[in-house]
Amino acid sequence: MASITCKYHVHMPARWACEHCQINFCTDCIAIPKPGKLPSCPVCQRDLTSLGSGNLVTPFWQRLGRFFLYPFYPTPLLITWAMVGAGTGIVALFANSTLGLFSMVVLLVLLVGFAKYAYVVLEDTAHGHLTPRPYTNDLFTDNMVLPFKQLALMFAFGGVIFTVFDMFGYTMGWLAYTVIILTLPASTMVLAMEHSFFSAFNPLLIFTVIKRIGLPYLFMMGLLYLLSAALSTSQALLLTLLSPKVAAILLAFTGLYFWLVTFNLMGYVLYQYHEQLGYSVEIEAEVHAQPNAELTVSPELRATEILIAEGKSEQAAQRLAELIIDMPGNVEARERILKVARLNNDLVMHTKQGQEYISYLFHENKIGLAAKVYQNAVGFDKQFRPVRAHERVEIAQMLRANGQAKMAVTLLANLHTEFPSFDGIPAAYLLAAKMLCEHFSDDAKARQILQFVLKYYPSHALVPEVQDYLGVVEKLAVK
Ligand SMILES: [Zn+2]
Ligand SMILES: [Zn+2]
Repeated sequence: MASITCKYHVHMPARWACEHCQINFCTDCIAIPKPGKLPSCPVCQRDLTSLGSGNLVTPFWQRLGRFFLYPFYPTPLLITWAMVGAGTGIVALFANSTLGLFSMVVLLVLLVGFAKYAYVVLEDTAHGHLTPRPYTNDLFTDNMVLPFKQLALMFAFGGVIFTVFDMFGYTMGWLAYTVIILTLPASTMVLAMEHSFFSAFNPLLIFTVIKRIGLPYLFMMGLLYLLSAALSTSQALLLTLLSPKVAAILLAFTGLYFWLVTFNLMGYVLYQYHEQLGYSVEIEAEVHAQPNAELTVSPELRATEILIAEGKSEQAAQRLAELIIDMPGNVEARERILKVARLNNDLVMHTKQGQEYISYLFHENKIGLAAKVYQNAVGFDKQFRPVRAHERVEIAQMLRANGQAKMAVTLLANLHTEFPSFDGIPAAYLLAAKMLCEHFSDDAKARQILQFVLKYYPSHALVPEVQDYLGVVEKLAVK
């Protein structure tokens, strides 16, 4: 199906390419850009080149069978048979009566109605809806002028051919005829895109469509020619094989059937080349690509993953830092930047981001997670400490509860030198003394800390409790 695949997701068709880095990206790698703007390369920041969602759309020549099946879906089948039934019924009823003219008018109305439906098929397909929509009445009431515009177009082209024959003779007339036959599908497609008679009659626009589709346009023309040949052959065959009445019904059916096949094909060509034609599609082809199992990070982080894969982890860290400023709640980015900082051995960034992350988690009241972040951070950088005194104390409490007393004691050490005005120092040091005594039997150190509290915070509310605990420690020491 797709000829070019993503460098990082080898099973995904590529949607964008960087000419500078020579990298192809899938839609999972590159966030959907704002309309009318090209996304930029995650590695070098230059504009990416679109490979066209054509790279994701199966080319029409690889799904020819689908065009022949389309009219057999319930809705088109129902509409086709309703038209055939109404048409042949009316002809049978009034053909030999004085109401012959009336039946002609009714037939014409039916044909216009069916032409309208054929345009619905063309436009839906061109928008990427590859199966028919369910029947609703507005299939026929909405935008009813379109088939009349097509009719007007036919008359206009007929007029041109007639005039050329009349004024310039036989050869020129046939030339005009051939040119018009060749441009008719493009003109129909322009009409479907623009809904404008004058656009569909504008040689410049028609020529642009043909040029942008390129060689496949000729291929499509060949197909359309074969389809019309198949139609007339099958109709001739029906006439010879069947009774006139049955043949009439089947003739009508095959005519309408090939009409839908043709419009489905033209719609699909518009869909396949919508990007070249500047035609917007409702269903981006992405949804037709297989879901990506290789995906590990959320869309915002993919650019940074690519930078890391390209060995540009410092840029990745920079990008993550910017992302965190924009989205402080992006925990994934915050976890990621710490890993990248460790990878880069960037202590400054590691400290800054680690401290900010922990403060963020405290703000969100996620102390357990903050304790985990601290554990990981201190595992990389022994000097790492949370930036606020109360964060250190609360993390220490959490660590102690989780049986990490050693780490907790370290976290509380020298709190008074770093945060002289912190009013929680007596409580923090009492906690440290308890851990030293209970977990490490370091009574001497515990006593020293408790005495320090009594000396420097003599009027603190915790003084009685500190004195009590000092008494316990001293008693233990005596034993
Ligand atoms: Zn990718
Ligand atoms: Zn690039």
